[in-house]
Amino acid sequence: MKRKVEADIVIVGGGVAGLWLLNRLRQQKLSAILLEASVLGGGQTHKAQGIIHGGMKFAVTGFSKAASAIADMPALWESCLKGEGEINLKAVPILSSHQYLWSPQSLAGKVAGFLASMALRTKVDSLPREQFPEIFRTAQFDGDVYSVPEMVLDVHALIRELAKPHQDAIFKINPIHEKDLHLDESGRMTALAIHTPIPETLEVHAQQFIFTAGAGNEVLFNKLQTKSVAAQRRPLHMVYVKLPQSYSLFAHCLSMSSTPRLTITTHQAKDGSTVWYLGGNLAEVGVNRTAEEQIKAAKEELNTLFPWLDFSNAQFGTCKIDRAEPLQANGGRPDTCVVKAIKNMIVAWPTKLALAPKLAHEILNLLQSEKIQPRFCDTRELRACPMPPFAQPPWN
Ligand SMILES: Cc1cc2nc3c(=O)[nH]c(=O)nc-3n(C[C@H](O)[C@H](O)[C@H](O)COP(=O)(O)OP(=O)(O)OC[C@H]3O[C@@H](n4cnc5c(N)ncnc54)[C@H](O)[C@@H]3O)c2cc1C
Repeated sequence: MKRKVEADIVIVGGGVAGLWLLNRLRQQKLSAILLEASVLGGGQTHKAQGIIHGGMKFAVTGFSKAASAIADMPALWESCLKGEGEINLKAVPILSSHQYLWSPQSLAGKVAGFLASMALRTKVDSLPREQFPEIFRTAQFDGDVYSVPEMVLDVHALIRELAKPHQDAIFKINPIHEKDLHLDESGRMTALAIHTPIPETLEVHAQQFIFTAGAGNEVLFNKLQTKSVAAQRRPLHMVYVKLPQSYSLFAHCLSMSSTPRLTITTHQAKDGSTVWYLGGNLAEVGVNRTAEEQIKAAKEELNTLFPWLDFSNAQFGTCKIDRAEPLQANGGRPDTCVVKAIKNMIVAWPTKLALAPKLAHEILNLLQSEKIQPRFCDTRELRACPMPPFAQPPWN
């Protein structure tokens, strides 16, 4: 007979969504455990740029429903970062309290009207030249710069802080496969068979099974063979640049197209060097390029946008990652986070790191309507199971 574990809630997937949810469920005195097959934050989360969007990006790109879904998030995050919110994130560094939007010379003039026409949710201030960030205070820059009060977080510190109080409830397992999901005739999940690195197979029972496994959510609906829920993946080919000088910049380069031409966030590598992490259109159009081709494209873009800087001694690298999301009719970006309940299973995608709190709220509401209450639980069999390690930033 297999050894058994009994919990109120089982979460599969330890990215930002699963970890935020674990915190919220345990605050409700529910016995919740989180199972992770790789490293904590191991999917999309540790490759995120850490921008807590307040609607600016979505408004600029014309997704007004998305802008309203995300508009409340900065205030919620801010209260957590002050240690006054639903989760104490006081120890998570804010890498920047704001970002810049800039237009290269060719767009100067056209951009102000473009921004005004977008009815931005977030306040966007056009800056006088003397308030430009240092990097643009050169005679060679002839464009416009705007300031947007959207902060950027240290994602790796965030993962650690979310996991820290719950180390006794987070377990490393081998990846869950369809055969591990045990359903009864009515389609309810009766147990999850988990294979631990010890090695041992355990049978996990719970009132609810919640999948926040990003791309791994597909295991659940492949098993269910349901058409009511399906996923899409939108790939990105990100570039990181270790700079010989420490230029700090958090900025989106505007173009007249719907995606920023380039999004730059600045981070510190383990060896102390400054890293620019590059997303935006470069990452979207570069998905079919090899790493060498993408690096060449990134160098060309940086040399065009910053002709006064010298990138010849910078070290470049790339990483490919899929954004895992619920399927959209047009294959585009979902408007907000998505939670689907199927019997005693929930599958959930935040679709943005910034939306992880909203996702947890929606799941808590669902559990409340299902009248899920703490019961007698026994998770002792998992005690010998290690905690998964933390994901490392791609540039380390
Ligand atoms: C390059 C990039 C940049 C981004 N930048 C931003 C940003 O600046 N701001 C923002 O708001 N959003 C951003 N996003 C979006 C954001 O990162 C994601 O929406 C969010 O991280 C998704 O979190 P998640 O927990 O759902 O999934 P994930 O982070 O993918 O975590 C899923 C976890 O489940 C585990 N898992 C998978 N399958 C299984 C299985 N079978 N068994 C057990 N465990 C399993 C994985 O190992 C992983 O750890 C970015 C996304 C990308 C790709």
